[in-house]
Amino acid sequence: MESIAQALQQVARRIEVAAAAAARPPGSVALLAVSKTQPAAAVRAALAAGQRAFGENYVQEALAKMAALADVRAQLEWHLIGPLQSNKTRAVAEAFDWVHSVDRLKLAQRLAEQRPAWLPPLNICLQVNVSGEASKSGVQPEELPALARAVAALPAERVRLRGLMSIPEPAEGLDAQRAPHRRLRELLAALNDAGYALDTLSMGMSADLEAAVAEGATLLRIGTAIFGAR
Ligand SMILES: *Cc1c(COP(=O)(O)O)cnc(C)c1O
Repeated sequence: MESIAQALQQVARRIEVAAAAAARPPGSVALLAVSKTQPAAAVRAALAAGQRAFGENYVQEALAKMAALADVRAQLEWHLIGPLQSNKTRAVAEAFDWVHSVDRLKLAQRLAEQRPAWLPPLNICLQVNVSGEASKSGVQPEELPALARAVAALPAERVRLRGLMSIPEPAEGLDAQRAPHRRLRELLAALNDAGYALDTLSMGMSADLEAAVAEGATLLRIGTAIFGAR
């Protein structure tokens, strides 16, 4: 079996090739290692190989892992990428650096109220439903401008709107995979044209990394290709 360090190298190579094909500087694409269902030891192995940003889906699991990794907290950046329920916002506001899955104002308001004053602002991405009927989570594209406006108006010392995130339906082939990513890129561009300065497009997973890079992803969320099948 290959090691986590080797798998990270292979993913970095895939990103490099995809970035070159899209004429993008390799440094413009960051890697979030999705460590859900993986033990703390796997995070430690990835950290030892230089990976610092980790994505988790389940709040309880993440909190337990964070406790086991408290000694290296300063080196780690924790991102919540899974669905967020209102009753978990306090724990998330206190423990995470980023939340990618904000799809309604109430969540952002609670995160802003509950973010401790001694921490830097919580980075927020708005999750957009780019697959229409097929997916239930994420704000509808038509409702995105109003949500962005309201979230951007929350106290800047508590939450900072950074960009957009999506989880498209799985698709086969580069063209089919690119379409929803293009949609997200265009939605981000429209917001920035309207005066925002959003810098994050959280899109692309193990199976569609190349398509996401081709459409401008700045933060890839990769689990399986680093840690193996779950
Ligand atoms: C699990 C998960 C990923 C990683 O998916 P892989 O196919 O394992 O790379 C990315 N984003 C979200 C939201 C996930 O839940």
